[in-house]
Amino acid sequence: ERLITPEPGRDEPAFDRAIRPRKLADYVGQPVVRDQMEIFIGAARARREALDHVLIFGPPGLGKTTLAHIIAHEMQVNLRQTSGPVIEKPGDLAAILTNLDAGDVLFVDEIHRLSPVIEEVLYPAMEDYQLDIMIGEGPAARSIKLDLPAFTLVGATTRAGLLTSPLRDRFGIVQRLEYYGAEDLAWIVRRSAGILGIETEPAGAAEIARRSRGTPRIANRLLRRVRDYAQVRAQGRITAEVADLALDLLKVDHQGFDQMDRRLLDAVINKFDGGPVGVESLAAAIGEERGTIEDVLEPFLIQQGFLMRTPRGRVATQAAYLHLGLKPPQRREP
Ligand code: ADP
Repeated sequence: ERLITPEPGRDEPAFDRAIRPRKLADYVGQPVVRDQMEIFIGAARARREALDHVLIFGPPGLGKTTLAHIIAHEMQVNLRQTSGPVIEKPGDLAAILTNLDAGDVLFVDEIHRLSPVIEEVLYPAMEDYQLDIMIGEGPAARSIKLDLPAFTLVGATTRAGLLTSPLRDRFGIVQRLEYYGAEDLAWIVRRSAGILGIETEPAGAAEIARRSRGTPRIANRLLRRVRDYAQVRAQGRITAEVADLALDLLKVDHQGFDQMDRRLLDAVINKFDGGPVGVESLAAAIGEERGTIEDVLEPFLIQQGFLMRTPRGRVATQAAYLHLGLKPPQRREP
């Protein structure tokens, strides 16, 4: 498994619980989201109403689950957690909804993966707090209507474009999470180090932050791995030099790229003359699946300006050449 994957590792949930911020004030970065949520939550609380439904979208590891928990904590209600693919039958959803207390938060991760049948049940539940389901089959089937407590649906998805528009339209609040800047990530690393009792100099935290691909989950994971190194080689203290040596050993470079990223850039430049190259050819050249390239490798390289997606294929930018220590080709005059 990649060290820098933004998806959670198998051993991470317990670690996550220890360091996950509980209050909005501890939610680092995302100032727009934080300011808006503070107002919406404050207003709902003053009116003693359930908060409007909230849709949170953004790449994995940026704090969608964390924000859902913070919303529940700040609203002083319970949070029930489920995910799109887990809810298979209308009865599954009905069981969850009828067990909510007034004001509760229902957090649905990967909400774009709800089946159309489930979405149909969800619409009146979101709009009117009404449950409208069929029970039984054949001639004995009948529909029943139930009143639900006022609740808040918090949905999370990695890509807003994957959501059907009727579902999307039913969220009163839509928040988009952005990749974090190095300063915010350094702050997150220092906060986690404090909670875990890891001695970290500010410059050490900054070095970890710089290589964390704008993603808090990766920053926290790299902190754990650098701690291992520091314990064995540096009396447990994370300085800039220790972080640098540890991350070099872990093969995470100064841009936060690992060998897979570098292999992809290297292939575009050296096997396809810098591009444009179609994703299928690229996949064959580096021995990865097309989906892995599109979903896992490319987004960060594109976001950072090392790769461009053009109608004719992928193109390496000047930054990619320079990163690999190569001379960029002269730009032809248009
Ligand atoms: P997502 O649900 O988007 O995949 P999570 O909410 O699980 O991401 O966040 C991953 C980890 O990053 C969590 O362990 C959390 O502690 C940390 N984290 C995320 N966002 C923030 C933030 N704004 N401030 C501090 N820590 C954060």
